[in-house]
Amino acid sequence: MSDYLIKATAFEGTVRAYAIKSTELVEEARKRHDTWATASAALGRTMTISAIMGAMLKGEDKLTIKLEGDGPTGPIVVDANAKGQVRGYITNPHVDFDLNAKGKLDVARAVGTAGNLSVVKDLGLKDHFTGQVPIVSGEVSEDFTYYFATSEQVPSAVGAGVLVNPDHTILAAGGFIVQVMPGASDEAIDLLENRIATIPPISTLIREGKSPEAILNILFGETNLNILDKLPVTFHCPCSIERISNAIRGLGNDEIDDMIKVDGGAEATCHFCNEHYHLSPDDLSKLKQSEELQ
Ligand code: ZN
Repeated sequence: MSDYLIKATAFEGTVRAYAIKSTELVEEARKRHDTWATASAALGRTMTISAIMGAMLKGEDKLTIKLEGDGPTGPIVVDANAKGQVRGYITNPHVDFDLNAKGKLDVARAVGTAGNLSVVKDLGLKDHFTGQVPIVSGEVSEDFTYYFATSEQVPSAVGAGVLVNPDHTILAAGGFIVQVMPGASDEAIDLLENRIATIPPISTLIREGKSPEAILNILFGETNLNILDKLPVTFHCPCSIERISNAIRGLGNDEIDDMIKVDGGAEATCHFCNEHYHLSPDDLSKLKQSEELQ
């Protein structure tokens, strides 16, 4: 089963709900960045929630999430858009700790418990939304719950989990966001709070093979749920040799001459997907010539 997310409403549209299976997305990030177990969970939870937040956008809109704690992983940066495309990196991928007192990957220790979570939404036509909140726990899900309550003023329940195999590959990853709109009844809110407090961890449900639809059914009961859309989710980075070449061209001829004569070529690595690019002196001189032609 490939990764996808489900958008739904419940209780006559007064509750918005999203659930995602993101195992392959997190595994792709692990392979690209060589993340160790605790770092995989930190990056994976952030990417999972970012994928859902991307799906809340429309058209060409996109967002960038930065989780900057004081822990050993350093900043985590994730881009997501309305098309289910997600890319991300963690500054130090080689972080792995013993399980915490609850028997879970100790994400708070890896991320840190002080710092900031920021969300920048690029809504086209030079319209940007920026929200920033302090990190409240470093467990990621709780930090996003706090972000939604404080910065967007939408009471939300956020869950995200990653299970890692002994060989560090990703066993299961997934998440959900449930948001209460104005007009939601007290009964609906009570029922939801009760279900969210009692369901098994989301990563356990994904490992058991539960689909995003099944997870929403567990949360709401089939009668209350109205599924609106299904969106495939993939790791996608738009970087390319053309983009790197354009960036180098923009540095100007003198700089390119230096790269040719002093460095004997140019190397570039994309932070987001860890793709390596190499430009030979020949490649570089072509960039120079095309600037002279302009
Ligand atoms: Zn890239």
